[in-house]
Amino acid sequence: MKRRPIVAANWKMNLLRSDAETLVRGLLEGLDGTEPVDVAVAPPFPYLAFVGRFLEGSGVGLAAQNLHWEGFGAYTGEVCGAMLRDVGCRYVIVGHSERRQFFHETDETVNRRLKAALAQRLVPIFCVGETLEQRKAGRTENVVGEQVRGGLAGFGREDVAGMVIAYEPVWAIGTGETATPDQAQAVHAYVRSLLASLYDPDLAGGLRIQYGGSVKPENVAELMGRPDIDGALVGGASLKAASFLGIVRGAV
Ligand code: PEP
Repeated sequence: MKRRPIVAANWKMNLLRSDAETLVRGLLEGLDGTEPVDVAVAPPFPYLAFVGRFLEGSGVGLAAQNLHWEGFGAYTGEVCGAMLRDVGCRYVIVGHSERRQFFHETDETVNRRLKAALAQRLVPIFCVGETLEQRKAGRTENVVGEQVRGGLAGFGREDVAGMVIAYEPVWAIGTGETATPDQAQAVHAYVRSLLASLYDPDLAGGLRIQYGGSVKPENVAELMGRPDIDGALVGGASLKAASFLGIVRGAV
């Protein structure tokens, strides 16, 4: 079964407003012929509304890079799902490895954030992935499996059905070192089989699993050629319209 591909741009903590405008205008100009792919852009919080205005009516989804699990309240510096919804977000990235690594994100807090996203009808892009040390120790499936189980703890079939999962090996993020299509496919197939056992094969077969980690226009088509790879979460190469468009086109 081939699922509708989804390619998302994670701008991380990059760009000022004028660069954001140039990038999003360039992106929108080049999207012809890419209708078979869902495209999303995740700017930093201060630029969500600004970028969202350009995206209106374009079909490109606005995404946030994180959200807090609580609703409104005394949580200085945090942003809640209702605010993201209010500024027009359709997606939110949850559990990115940089959040896990630098901001002490755990499977439990990822689980709470995923719940908060669903409560606001935001589509989570739920990130999992192993470090190089864990891969070398032969623990990739254990680690990724634990992240999937922990993140989805307590979720029913209907909660999980609309999510997007992003497999992002930590050693491939921002390093220029991409997982080989075989390495990525193996983990994607494992995640799908785990979801089939946690829920059912139907749900697992319909869920989109993106690959992330140094995706470029030159390597996307080969990755996308594998049966369980349904798109890409793109960091560095999403910061230039031409390279991001090259990736979106490679996913068509
Ligand atoms: C990411 O941050 O999600 C990512 C995949 O980054 P990069 O494409 O730069 O490796």
